[in-house]
Amino acid sequence: MLEVRNLSASYGMHRALSGINVQVEAGEIVVILGANGAGKSSLLKAIAGMSEGEVEAEITLDGSLISDLRAEQIVERGIAFVPEGRGIFGDLTVAENLMLGAYSSHARAQQEQNLDRVFALFPKLRERRSQISRTMSGGEQQMVAIGRAMMSAPQILMLDEPSLGLSPLLCKELFANLKNIRETGLGVLLVEQNARQSLATADRGYLIENGEIIGQDTADRLLNDPAVQSAYLGGASAAT
Ligand code: ATP
Repeated sequence: MLEVRNLSASYGMHRALSGINVQVEAGEIVVILGANGAGKSSLLKAIAGMSEGEVEAEITLDGSLISDLRAEQIVERGIAFVPEGRGIFGDLTVAENLMLGAYSSHARAQQEQNLDRVFALFPKLRERRSQISRTMSGGEQQMVAIGRAMMSAPQILMLDEPSLGLSPLLCKELFANLKNIRETGLGVLLVEQNARQSLATADRGYLIENGEIIGQDTADRLLNDPAVQSAYLGGASAAT
């Protein structure tokens, strides 16, 4: 289980996050919803050890403290991060991109099993393993990015706005993929603009406003909460 306690992050004089408490259990999908600039990306980067700001927090994974570790050590412990914009290498093939995700020593040791697991989740990547990544569609590139993160054999997968730029059909496919990933026992923490679809997929959600958590509940209850509907789902008829 990932447990984030009392996380704050500042960029110079600007305090972007304060007093953040978030938990993600194995086998659950947790979504963080918030307006532009609320601090969602800052939170994921802070957990991943990739913040450009000053972070204070007590973050544990299965009880062991990871908040003072460097980014690559955090990956090694079992937290994989797919940043906004995916961060894949367009000139490399699908297989080469996937292999880059297996750089930690424990992941290298089980490279072949992890690759089989990724190909089982995303059969299309097996078919396209020799294709140059930038020639793939947006949805396929998102699969490569998630597949690469899965190559580090994580316990927790964090995704920053994975549905950004995807067509409605590909969004649907993406969320179906996240459900399959949950089935394998991983915990998934995602930040999304697509509140409706992410709440329909997630188990729980947190609402973040001006750098603070202002609410949390099961995804079902958030989806049916009138205040959430008007703030994030475009009005009262949203849940229908
Ligand atoms: P969006 O949905 O627009 O991506 P967000 O909720 O992810 O927004 P963040 O990107 O976390 O928000 O930004 C939170 C605040 O921190 C914003 O005011 C932003 O300007 C500021 N911020 C983020 N990164 C930096 C940085 N590297 N240097 C300075 N300020 C930053």
